[in-house]
Amino acid sequence: QPYISIRHLQKGYKIGGEAISIFDGLDLDIPNGDFVAIMGPSGSGKSTLLNMLAGIDRPDAGELRIGNSYLNQMGEGARASWRAHNMGIVFQFYNLLPMLNAAENVELPLLLKPLSAKDRRDRVRKVLDLVGLSGRERQYPSMMSGGQQQRVGIARAIVSDPGLLLCDEPTGDLDRKSADDVLQMLRFLNQELGKTIIMVTHDPEAAKYAKRVLHLDKGNFVEEKRAA
Ligand code: ADP
Ligand code: ADP
Repeated sequence: QPYISIRHLQKGYKIGGEAISIFDGLDLDIPNGDFVAIMGPSGSGKSTLLNMLAGIDRPDAGELRIGNSYLNQMGEGARASWRAHNMGIVFQFYNLLPMLNAAENVELPLLLKPLSAKDRRDRVRKVLDLVGLSGRERQYPSMMSGGQQQRVGIARAIVSDPGLLLCDEPTGDLDRKSADDVLQMLRFLNQELGKTIIMVTHDPEAAKYAKRVLHLDKGNFVEEKRAA
């Protein structure tokens, strides 16, 4: 069975007294090791979907399974704990804490784990090295370029070694060169470390790095056809 499966998923919001439907019977399979780009116009539901995959929001009805976990059946606490152990999230504006240096930002997810201070330090050093930031452990986000900050964000997302990476416009705040560096890093994490990646993006250049491009339109996915 696929790593992620979405079946007959329904999700809407109540605005004032009025109910609006975003998804009404969404189906999607994502195999382990996939790299999917999700595109679509503003308001098409990309954030809503990402929030459900992250376990932040819950579907109104239907199934959302990741691995052996049925997120649609789990309460908020169980979903938060599941998220901490099973996925990393990369944000458009990095979401780094400004009063912590690079190493301290990356260490944060590890504080939830039963690891010694030395083990934490070793893992932080390893992932900062992996994203090309060794030597910058003690720099604060305000001293770094956007591309460097996003690489700290990626290091933080992978430091607990999750199988799944969710990326919300990871290059939306970057110039072309820094964006390509970040995308090449995501490709490496996918191809060499086997991470499954789901990336929401507006950038057609970013989508080229993915194995599949899905366009969200009126609550449904249309897959882009590409030459093999
Ligand atoms: P996208 O990320 O593709 O721009 P969103 O998922 O943010 O789309 O939004 C899809 C629709 O759902 C929009 O009409 C948006 O206004 C609405 N929406 C999103 N989140 C909420 C919320 N928490 N409460 C009410 N409406 C929401
Ligand atoms: P994006 O373009 O990245 O999707 P949005 O401005 O659409 O950003 O949404 C940002 C956040 O605000 C999302 O988490 C979304 O769920 C929430 N949101 C969007 N529209 C509404 C709304 N009408 N009411 C409440 N929350 C909303």
